[in-house]
Amino acid sequence: MLSDAEYLRYGRQLMLAEVGEAGQARLGNASVLIVGLGGLGSPLALYLAGAGVGTLWLADGDTVDSSNLPRQILFDSEAINRSKAELARERLAAHNPLVELIAINQRLDAASLPEFVAEVDLVIDCCDNLETRQAINAACVAQHKPWISAAAAGWQGQLMVRERAGQACYACLYPPDTRSAESCASSGIIGPLVGVMGSLQALEAVRLLLGKPSPVAGTVRRFDALAQQWQHFTLPANPDCPVCGSQHRTRS
Ligand SMILES: [Zn+2]
Repeated sequence: MLSDAEYLRYGRQLMLAEVGEAGQARLGNASVLIVGLGGLGSPLALYLAGAGVGTLWLADGDTVDSSNLPRQILFDSEAINRSKAELARERLAAHNPLVELIAINQRLDAASLPEFVAEVDLVIDCCDNLETRQAINAACVAQHKPWISAAAAGWQGQLMVRERAGQACYACLYPPDTRSAESCASSGIIGPLVGVMGSLQALEAVRLLLGKPSPVAGTVRRFDALAQQWQHFTLPANPDCPVCGSQHRTRS
């Protein structure tokens, strides 16, 4: 049963057949871990808090730098040198006091991720490095938790979703020993591109939490922001994948 405040706030999305009262209640009961509160995590967190996703765990160990501000829209000039996780919690609480917000002021890694992954229904990878991305994938595969991953560097964005066992994981695409040549720090980045990719992660998150299957799962979507072109290709699960391979073998 939704409160009067919830009916008023969420009225426009309640009108959608795919949401309605039952869907809004699902969103309200859901908990999501957001790893990284930068250019991807900023729009993502704002949209999920705005949509009334019940509990958001906000993880980032960095402080705000002036070079973050063109794309990390959770923060403003007064935020420089302050904790991103703490600031995100403050900003999102002001945006929607109906959602629960938990700040994790640390850089999550392979050792610390499992305990947080265990707390949530969905993990969203908004991090800026391959090592953390692989750790998120491994923790989610091990605990059978869905994840939504995006990355962006230069003018190129990438989106992937894994909902369940049997679908390709991140290590099916990039073996765990892959080293990345690209990062925002080394390749540069344009703000609106991470806005697009973070917003798409929010869209996938809402759909997944509503119980709708993702058309992205099992594929890789790549966006060329200069050419305004999307590419997508099917990514079958690799039976020899060091992370998820054993799940395929036990299923078949
Ligand atoms: Zn895999």
